[in-house]
Amino acid sequence: MADGLQAVIFDWGGTLTPWHTVDLAAQWTAYAGVVHADAPDAAARAAGDLLAAEERAWAACRDVHSSATFDDVLAAAGLSRHEEAASAYREFWDPHTYLDPDVPDLFAGLRERGLRIGVLSNTIWDRAWHEQFFARDGVLHLIDGAVYTSEVPWTKPHPEAFRAAMAAVGVDDPAACVFVGDRPFDDISGARAVGMRAVLVPHSDIPAAQQVPVEVEPDAVVHRLADVLPLVDAWR
Ligand SMILES: [Mg+2]
Repeated sequence: MADGLQAVIFDWGGTLTPWHTVDLAAQWTAYAGVVHADAPDAAARAAGDLLAAEERAWAACRDVHSSATFDDVLAAAGLSRHEEAASAYREFWDPHTYLDPDVPDLFAGLRERGLRIGVLSNTIWDRAWHEQFFARDGVLHLIDGAVYTSEVPWTKPHPEAFRAAMAAVGVDDPAACVFVGDRPFDDISGARAVGMRAVLVPHSDIPAAQQVPVEVEPDAVVHRLADVLPLVDAWR
């Protein structure tokens, strides 16, 4: 398999974790409600400022592929991290963080085939938060390397984000990598542009403001993650 595949790298939201349409204002209402527990007007103002700051961060991701952190969003709204508020925010998100039930068998199957497993997620969240989801769902030990864009300057589809993910799994030939994701622009066009094979999981209801029209054909489309294994068998 020396000339074949070496790694399969996955997007997280809408790919390893099924898409949920989440009320993005409500996450910040949860946060601000703890920061300003006794001042509902101040809480509502802060929640609005946080939502606007997050929207600016995702617009920068979309337009110039630059990353942001959770703390950057807080700072842009004039706040700093409040641990209890961050806990309330994470509790709000918890129901939307569970892995697709196909993932444990898929990862085990990839490992049996000698393939490395990577993750590349456009995210403002801390690595520790993502790792807690994977640990809770029993697969953290199967992930060889992960890039959370909160830790690097770029977001998908910037080529450097994909190169960072290759470095994280220890592969230097993009042709030896398959990327699996749910977004035609961020995931499929980005992976194809660096020379990876790209597999689309087309079940996400991506908000219009986060979409960029793109002419790109994935190498394959899968309707469930278990279907990645036969593809990999055909390609390796
Ligand atoms: Mg996604």
